[in-house]
Order: sequence, then C-alpha cells, then structure tokens
Amino acid sequence: MMKKAVALLGIGVAAAGATVRLNPDTPFAPSLLAQAPAPYDLVIRNGRIIDGTGSPWYRADVAVRGDTIALIAPAISEPAARVIDANGQIVSPGFIDIHNHARENFFRLPSADNYIRQGVTTLIEGPDGGSPVPLGPFLAKLDATQKSINIGSFIGQGSVREAVLGRANRRPTPAELDKMRGIVEDGMKAGAFGMSTGLFYVPGAFTPIEEVIELAKVAGKYGGIHISHMRDEAFGVLDSVRETIRIGEEGGLPTQVTHHKIVGPRNYGKSVETLKLLEAARERGVDATSDQYPYTASSNAFTASMIPQWGQEGGREQMLARLKNPATRKEIGAETVRIIREERGGGDPKNVFLAHCDFDAAMAGKNLADVAKMRGLEPTIENGAEAAMWVVEQGNCQGVYHAMSEQDLERVMRHPATMIASDGWVQILGEGVPHPRSYGTFPRVLGVYVRERNVITLEDAIRKMTSFPAQRMRISDRGILRPGLKADITVFDPARVRDMATFEKPHQYAEGFSSVIVNGQVVFDGKAMTTARPGKLLRRN
Ligand SMILES: [Zn+2]
Repeated sequence: MMKKAVALLGIGVAAAGATVRLNPDTPFAPSLLAQAPAPYDLVIRNGRIIDGTGSPWYRADVAVRGDTIALIAPAISEPAARVIDANGQIVSPGFIDIHNHARENFFRLPSADNYIRQGVTTLIEGPDGGSPVPLGPFLAKLDATQKSINIGSFIGQGSVREAVLGRANRRPTPAELDKMRGIVEDGMKAGAFGMSTGLFYVPGAFTPIEEVIELAKVAGKYGGIHISHMRDEAFGVLDSVRETIRIGEEGGLPTQVTHHKIVGPRNYGKSVETLKLLEAARERGVDATSDQYPYTASSNAFTASMIPQWGQEGGREQMLARLKNPATRKEIGAETVRIIREERGGGDPKNVFLAHCDFDAAMAGKNLADVAKMRGLEPTIENGAEAAMWVVEQGNCQGVYHAMSEQDLERVMRHPATMIASDGWVQILGEGVPHPRSYGTFPRVLGVYVRERNVITLEDAIRKMTSFPAQRMRISDRGILRPGLKADITVFDPARVRDMATFEKPHQYAEGFSSVIVNGQVVFDGKAMTTARPGKLLRRN
C-alpha cells in the first residue's frame, strides 16, 4: 500500500515537473518524506545542451528517470539520486555508430570501452556485406549478453551469398536466388536494420547488380536501408557511386555509400564528382547518403586489399594454389604491384602496414618495405608486392593503407548528407597495432575538424553523430535530447575533447569526455568504466 502511494507520488511530480511540496499536516506525510525516493534518478546540471538536431546549444539541466529523459529545463532543483555538474560542458545525445566490426571482440569485452570512452552509446554491426547468417541466433546472443552499450545489426549480402554459393564466381539459379531472399527476409524479421553489401570483397564482388537489387527489395519491404562498401573506391569510384544509387533507386529503399573515401593519388579530387552524383540522385528523389571516418588511411583484411579478386575465388586453398603456380603468381604479383603503385599502396610499400597477423604477433606495426627488407629484398614496389604475397601465404592479417587526401576527406565531411561512423572494432587494450579509428573517430572530428580546422560546426558534427544516423536507422527514441526519449547522453569539454590514438600508438583512449550515460545509467564517469551494463539489443522498428 505504502509502496503504491510513493510510486503515485513520483508520477505526480513527473507530470507537474514542479518542486515537491507536501502538506505537513497530512498524517502520512512524515513517513512518506522519510521514504520518498528522489524525484529523479539523475540530473545533469549546468550543461550546454546540443540536442542533436543541428540547432545551436542552449543552457539547461537534464533530468533522467529510469532509462528515459524526464525533463529538460533551465534549472532543475528537485533532488536526484545522482547529480552531475556539467560545469558548462556540452551535453549531447550519445553517439550512434552505424558502421563497425564490434562483433569480433564484443563477447570478450561487452563493455566496449574504446567506444564508450569516445561517447558512443549505440553500435550497429554487420557492415561491408558481412554478418552472421542466419542473423537471429546472433541477435539473441547479443540480447542475452550483459553489455554497456546498445547494439544492433545489418544482414550482410556477402555472407548470405557465401551461405548459398560459397566463394564461387557465378550467377545463382532461380532456386538459389530464392534461398538468398529467404535468408535476407529472416534477418529482417529478426530485426536487422537493413542489408549491407561489400561488393569489394569476395564473394560480394562476384554479385551482379541485378542480384543485389533483388535482395535489396526484400530489405526495403521490411523498412531497412542499404549500405555499401562499394565495388571500387579507386579508379572506378564514380561508377561505384552510380551503382550504389541504382541499388536504392531500383531496390526501393534508402541507400548509403559507407566510409566514403577516394583511394589512390591519381583519383584524389574525385569527391567533387561523387558528391555531385549523390546530390543529383537526391534531387530526383533517391534517398542517398554517405558516412565517413576522419582519417586518410583505411583498414581491412590484408588479402582482400592486396590480392586481385580473381586470385581469391573459391577460397583460401585455391588462392594458395594460384600463388604456388609460377604463372598465376606472376599475374597476381603484377596486379599487386598496380595496387601498391596506384591504389591502396599510395605509390609506396611504406604506406601499407600490418595491424595484426594471426600467424605472428611480431608482424604488427610493420609495413611492406619492412617486410621486404626482412626477407633480404630492396624495398621497391615490386618487392613490396612479393612481400605482400608472402604475408598472404603465411596467414590472415589486417592491413592499414595510407592512400587518401585531406581535401577529399574534408569535402565529404562538409556535405550535409554525410554522417560519422568509425568502421572500427571493439579493441582489447594493447593487442596489435590497429587503425586508430576504433579509439578516436568521434573525438577526432570534434577536436581536429571542428575546433582546430573549423571544417564543420560543433552542432553539425553532433548532428552527424546522433540524430542523423538515428533517423537513417529509424531509431526514433534515441539520437536527440528530448523528454520521453531514451537517456543515452554524452558529456564532454569542447575545449579539451580530442583523440589520443595515433597510427604508431593506437591503444589510447580519447580525452575530454566526463560522463557517458546509456539508458539512464552512467557507464563511464570521466575516469573509469563503471560496472553498469545497461546496453540493449536494438531491433529495427
Ligand atoms: Zn568497409
């Protein structure tokens, strides 16, 4: 009985949003006062609110009850179980990262420290055409895992194709196409946010566009989007953007160029044209957008980037057989030379780094010039290619490639239809020499591109990290600071926020974040991760 009265009192206070004034003459008042819970679980005082919509900051306090924002008002004086003094810092929605490879380490480290500590409160997995297939059991496992961060997933077209056709370079039979449709449909029913493609990767690379469109239609029917690591981000980048637009247009769903970049010195400047293509598509009503990470180096599977796709056909054993055969090795080598000279190598084997290798931890941090020298060779481009093939023969590595320009990066970032996404991993502190984007994507935008270079405004940067990705994923209860929405909140000092991770020393957490809150609970207090695990599995609405 008493419990009920207290609960009712709490609701009354919430509705009024007013100071608690109990009549002291009421007989039960004293005991109620003694036991009454604070009206709010958390109040963040003295913040500058950037609400995520792109509107200018304003001064207000934010009150949270349970997992929900209860009130935002100029001065909230009611008691709260916990009070955070933001002391003039920025209070923004938690960042939503729609392109990452979190699943690789997520179950080892479900607190996802490197993401939380850069203000990220939601991860959407399954990019680049790669996801667990079928998706349902993976989502169930995520759901059952105690985690600090919210997480959801796309269904990956490449994985769907691999499940049905393996790594074969051929068209599906009608029955096989139907089977693929069914797997995409099951993934969408399980809660995928859409379908990702990785048309650069084997086996996605073997997919004719008509087949992609057929599967995109299924994702679109369930309200999902299409997001693409394009077939070619170098010489063919314009055709690839056209293809991405066509998948949206003919598949009948929103479409997105993911981690939009221009690879290879001879292609620098092409972002002028790629952005024009996206704008022209938008003008005729195609819902086409892009996302980006703020670095001029990329990172992905070393084999995928350094060996031509035909060399990878059929899987690893067949690839190794081609590398053993002197004639095919020569052909592969010639293409790897071209990749180093004109594409991901940026013209020098020194630009291609190994992030980590499964066959030898000591390879991490070495570039292809180092590997050539290790093998007693001069660090020429040709010997760099030889070193690359040797590495591929030893096992699997992750590579880092310095082959993009700042001008393209800034041009893409300025575009209003570009959002920020990390393309990173959950990192175990100290393991390998990974791309720093896993630790620094969001603070790097805020520190370097907002504060130092004025490429975009702080409010626009926050929009690109919050309401824009939320809108894209149709996550309607996050991404904006507004009463009634989920309390995913990031507090940071705009004068101090910055990425600390570098290519040489990537395992360094971002600075300048003083509180990160997920579903109303503090998961990072400015010094350390807390023990709270309030993260939720998110499914498409
Ligand atoms: Zn990718």
